[in-house]
Amino acid sequence: MAEITLELCKERKPIPDDDKLGFGVHFTDHMLVMDYNLEQGWHDMRITPYGSIEIDPSMMALHYGQAIFEGMKAFRGQEGGINIFRPRDHFQRFNNSARRVCIPELDIEELLTGLKKLLEIDNQWVPSTHGTALYIRPFIFATDQFLGVRPSHTYKLMIILSPVGAYYAEGFNPVKIMVEDEYVRAVRGGIGAIKTPGNYAASLLAAVKAQKQGFTQVLWLDAIEQKWLEEVGTMNIMVKIDDKVITPPLNGSILPGITRDSTLKLLQQWQVPVAEEQISIDEVMEAGRSGRLQEMFGTGTAAVISPVGSLHYKDQSVAINNGAVGELSQKLFDEITAIQYGSKADDHGWIETVPV
Ligand SMILES: *Cc1c(COP(=O)(O)O)cnc(C)c1O
Repeated sequence: MAEITLELCKERKPIPDDDKLGFGVHFTDHMLVMDYNLEQGWHDMRITPYGSIEIDPSMMALHYGQAIFEGMKAFRGQEGGINIFRPRDHFQRFNNSARRVCIPELDIEELLTGLKKLLEIDNQWVPSTHGTALYIRPFIFATDQFLGVRPSHTYKLMIILSPVGAYYAEGFNPVKIMVEDEYVRAVRGGIGAIKTPGNYAASLLAAVKAQKQGFTQVLWLDAIEQKWLEEVGTMNIMVKIDDKVITPPLNGSILPGITRDSTLKLLQQWQVPVAEEQISIDEVMEAGRSGRLQEMFGTGTAAVISPVGSLHYKDQSVAINNGAVGELSQKLFDEITAIQYGSKADDHGWIETVPV
């Protein structure tokens, strides 16, 4: 494995207090950078001071969106070390995303080594209050200076770090969801199953529409029949009906969430009946009206578990669990965060520790 070049910043920035973090607004002192070209492949992994980069106006990523990203978290562990949650799975998904948009793949172990080095250097930035974390954002973009449509011949990889507070301003409170029946997010065979910027651009208009009407998030239906549940906002979705947890299967238009996977594994371990199967919005609304819809929650790195308090679809609303946090939602949140902070043993091999 090639050496990582280090260029440390001259002056460290003040670190914000844990209670003033927000999400994705503060960035640490350093970043990891790597370049790709046809002659050398991925090369020159380096850690440099965090800062602006110069780009050419014709840079391909700006025009055709050939870019991908990841989102994972690191936590301050009980013994003071840094716990990264499932980094190899995140980097594996990063490579899957790369493949779909013709970006050359990376060596996962090399990436992890670079990330750990970056975390060591910016160790002070990992907050320690419960609920806070260091958000890790790896991304790659096409850097050829060219206006034709084809895969770029050069790319840049960066990893930046951002200390974050609790994701939802309302705290761990059930959110109001609007079921989107006009716009769609992704379609099978497209790019919905990977983290690429176009998906998020496609989602903005519906999110703005929902927020104008007083809802927190959008529940996406499938693009073909606009009938089957897909995802909520940028989270996977699960419903508990008649004591069974149901989540849509990974059908090619749904993002394969790591939190979704962790949740499914815990439910299996707890012997909670669980199924990955298609479920229609009509079925969910009907279960809501008849009192059989016991819980509904989103899963994702940012929020971990996000309970849904009410669902609005075509002028009809249903409240879920009287708008209160469900028992299972709470238990999943507590279990996953306990493993992340290291207050509970990690039986699953999900934690990669960086001693500091
Ligand atoms: C990232 C993401 C998720 C959740 O994935 P995690 O790995 O759990 O963070 C779900 N849906 C979309 C669209 C996403 O971008």
